[in-house]
Amino acid sequence: MKLKYTGGGAWLSRLQGSPGFTARCCRAILGHAPIGSFNAQFFPHQPTGCPCGAVLETRPHILGYCNRFTDHLKTPISMTNFIDFMKANPRAFAFNTAPSGIG
Ligand SMILES: [Zn+2]
Repeated sequence: MKLKYTGGGAWLSRLQGSPGFTARCCRAILGHAPIGSFNAQFFPHQPTGCPCGAVLETRPHILGYCNRFTDHLKTPISMTNFIDFMKANPRAFAFNTAPSGIG
């Protein structure tokens, strides 16, 4: 399946939530998120480890293994699994300093 980005395309239209929820989901999907692997690439002086103790906080770690979160993705990964994970874990891919509702 080819992803569409225009007109609320194939996956964007599935994110029926607040703007903050949509923003978190987009960060997770695109890998442009406040996590250690992003810091390692763009802000090497910022922390790169996961608060759970993992050496590097990566997207697969958060979605599949991190003990800070629940309802990890199962394979085969589907958009439904992903949305369920994001709803169950409102702090996943969120900025720690963001006010409530911003994402
Ligand atoms: Zn972790």
